[in-house]
Amino acid sequence: MIQPDDPYRSLMFITHRPPTVFVRGQGSWLEDDQGQRYLDFIQGWAVNSLGHCHPAVVEALCQQSQRLINPSPAFYNDQALRLAQLIVSHSCFDRVFFANSGAEANEGAFKLARKWGALHCNGAYEIITLHHSFHGRTLAAMSASGKPQWETLFEPKVPGFRKVDINDIDAVQRAINDHTVAVMLEPIQGEAGVIVAENSFLADLRELTRRRRLLLIVDEVQTGIGRTGRLFAYQHANIEPDIMTLGKGIGGGVPLAALVAKEEVCCFEAGDQGGTFNGNPLVAAVGAAVMETVLAAGFLAQVEQTGHYLMQQLQQLCQRHSFQLVRGRGLLVAVDLGHEIAAEVARLAFENHLLVNAPRPSVLRFMPALNVTHDEIDQMITILDDACQQSMALAS
Ligand SMILES: *Cc1c(COP(=O)(O)O)cnc(C)c1O
Repeated sequence: MIQPDDPYRSLMFITHRPPTVFVRGQGSWLEDDQGQRYLDFIQGWAVNSLGHCHPAVVEALCQQSQRLINPSPAFYNDQALRLAQLIVSHSCFDRVFFANSGAEANEGAFKLARKWGALHCNGAYEIITLHHSFHGRTLAAMSASGKPQWETLFEPKVPGFRKVDINDIDAVQRAINDHTVAVMLEPIQGEAGVIVAENSFLADLRELTRRRRLLLIVDEVQTGIGRTGRLFAYQHANIEPDIMTLGKGIGGGVPLAALVAKEEVCCFEAGDQGGTFNGNPLVAAVGAAVMETVLAAGFLAQVEQTGHYLMQQLQQLCQRHSFQLVRGRGLLVAVDLGHEIAAEVARLAFENHLLVNAPRPSVLRFMPALNVTHDEIDQMITILDDACQQSMALAS
C-alpha cells in the first residue's frame, strides 16, 4: 500500500484516513491545504466544545503562554486552582486531579477506587462496567471497556473488571461479590452509538451502590461540560455519584482531563498519583475559559434548544429515507439507519465536505460544536440527505 513517495509515511499507521490534510479551522468549519472548506459535525470527537479556534480558547492560550506554561506538578499554580474551583463549585464533587486524556483520568478513577477498597472494603478491587462501554485506550481502560472488537486484543487484559448490560439493574446486583468495589458507567455510551442510560437505571444504581457500600463512578469524558444540555449528564438523573471523570470537551481542543471526587473518597497518599504535565497552567487556563463560556447565562439552554432542533431535523431525514430512529440528548445525537451503510454514508458525506462519524455499522453520530447554528444544521442535513440518497441507491 505504502508508496516510496508517500507523504504520510512518517506517521505510524493506526487507521485508514482520507488523504486530505487540514490546516485551519474556525467554528464549525475546517479548511484543507487546498483551500477547501468542510462542515464539521465531529469536532475532534466532541472535543472542540466551542468549535475550532474559539476566541476564548485562543485568547487563553496566547495570554497564558506568555505568563507561565509549566512550573511542575510539585507546585500549585493559579490556573489549576481556578479551574478546580470552577468544577467543584458547579458539581456535587469536592476535589479534582487533572490529567491529560480521558483514559488517564479513568486510570486515576480505577486507582482511587482500588485504594479506597484497600483502605475501607477488605481489599475489594473489582469494578463492574458495562458491555459496549468505552473508557479509553490504556491497557486498564481497554480492560474496563466493553468493546467487542477489543476482547482478544493485547492480551492479557488487566484483571478486575466484570461486565453487565446497560439498563439492567438485576444484572448489576448479580455481578456484585465480596471483591466488588465500584460500578462505573458512561451516562450515555458515546462510542457504542449513543445509548442512553435511563434516569431510573442511574437512580437505581445509586441506591444499590449506596446500600452495598460501593462507589459509583461516572465516565463523563464525552457527556460532560454541557454536551447533553446540562453541565454534567449525571444531573439529568438527580443523583450524586462518588467519582466522575472528564476529558474531551473540557479542554476545548487542548489535551486536558480530570478525575473528580467526593471528599470522603479522596484517599490518595503522597506519591500514589501524579504526572509530569498534569494540571499545567497552559491547558488549565483554556479549561477555565471553556467552563466560563459554557456557564454564561443562557448557554446551556441554547445547547438544549439546538439539540431539539438537530433531533427534529434528523427525525424528518429519517422519515424521508425510512431509517429507524434518532436518539441522544442535547448535542450528542445518533441516527440508527437500520442498514449497515453508516460508513458508506459518512464517506459520501466527506466527499461532499461534511464530517460525520459512524461509530457502528448502522449508526451515524453527531457531536457538533455546542454553539453550532441552525443554519449550519440545515447545511449539514442537505449534504447528509444527498449522501443517504446516493448510498441507498448504491445498496439497492
Ligand atoms: C473518548 C473517551 C475516553 C477516552 O478519552 P481519551 O482522551 O481518548 O483517552 C474515555 N471515556 C469516554 C466515555 C470517551 O468518550
